Amino acid sequence: NLRMAYKTDIVIIGAGQAGLSSAYHLQKSGLKAGSNFLLLDKSPNAGGAWQYRWPSLTLSTVNRIHDLPGMTFSDVLEPEVSEVKASVAVPHYYAAYEKKFQLPVYRPVNVSVVCERNDRFRIETDRETFTVRGIINATGTWETPVIPHYTGAELFKGQQLHTRDYQAAEAFAGKHVIIVGGGISALQLLDEISQVTTTTWVTRSEPQFRETPFSEEDGRAAVAIVEDRVRRGLIPGSVVSVTGIPLTPALRAARDRGALNRLPMFSEITETGIRWADGTEQRADVILWCTGFRSSLDHLAPLQIREANGGIIMGGRLATQVMKDPRIHLVGYGPSASTIGANRAGAAAAKELSAYLKLD
Ligand code: FAD
Repeated sequence: NLRMAYKTDIVIIGAGQAGLSSAYHLQKSGLKAGSNFLLLDKSPNAGGAWQYRWPSLTLSTVNRIHDLPGMTFSDVLEPEVSEVKASVAVPHYYAAYEKKFQLPVYRPVNVSVVCERNDRFRIETDRETFTVRGIINATGTWETPVIPHYTGAELFKGQQLHTRDYQAAEAFAGKHVIIVGGGISALQLLDEISQVTTTTWVTRSEPQFRETPFSEEDGRAAVAIVEDRVRRGLIPGSVVSVTGIPLTPALRAARDRGALNRLPMFSEITETGIRWADGTEQRADVILWCTGFRSSLDHLAPLQIREANGGIIMGGRLATQVMKDPRIHLVGYGPSASTIGANRAGAAAAKELSAYLKLD
């Protein structure tokens, strides 16, 4: 490749909450946009994965979106507005944020692969190539939906889709929908869909509902468990598996309607529906896989940062630093996979990486 690579010290891959927080902190420490750092994002607009969220997810139905450092959400949005779509409000906020701090975000630029070359990293994209000394990876999970394999999946004549593809419950009116999964998204979609049509809900393990909302202490305890896992090089695991699912008023109403009658996982998929191990069948028109996401890290594969079990041994103050190669930080990964975690991880990664590269 004879083309010149663009040279800078640090590239932040991904401009969602985690990438923007990292950029804010790099800039605040005195590093210069362009010569010291820049951001690459494959999405067409500001907003990270929020720009793709389904329309019924509003500011009142999300768990909570924490303000980015240095500028509050209410600076761009009236605080009493809660019914605004998250897919509109958050991109609006992030765009204003990028502008206010003049963050150098290049988009749409898809990072296809990162490899090592002469003590630097070479970042290949669908546009320019970049050569850098350090990487803050903030690519989230939206690009890598997980659908477990079940025998017969390819035979099913109905529609199969993932949380990522969901738009509106009305699309399923008159159809029987199987909803797979026990996380927060599964329950939100089950609630919506069961109001317009018949549903069957299946999960691998018995869902653990809790009568009380999360306290800050519960949140900290859950994050501590995930942090401990990644420090030991284990796959992070989902936070719901640690905290259980709080029964919101909407979920209580769904339970009272009989929509939360959970069945165990089926053993196979047929042409017309699903079949359990005991031979019982359920006809279905749609299978909606609310089976989660995994971290979008495939572009880092040549760097071989994974252990044999698929996990990555993490270190540093908030477990954002890749121990096998401290020039790489993962933010929004594991314990920082929340808006507040992403904020904090961005601060820690910016500080530790600048120090390691002697840029501070
Ligand atoms: P993202 O917002 O996913 O940003 C990643 C960015 O990286 C994207 O813009 C993407 O285009 C880009 N990218 C990915 N791959 C590449 C590549 N190869 N090259 C270039 N760019 C790339 N958290 C909360 O705290 N509160 C909530 O209420 C909440 N609700 C949620 C609801 C849903 C349905 C889901 C799925 C998650 C929710 N979360 C919530 C978790 C939430 O995703 C995180 O908190 C946070 O927004 C993730 O930020 P991020 O910066 O890590 O990733």
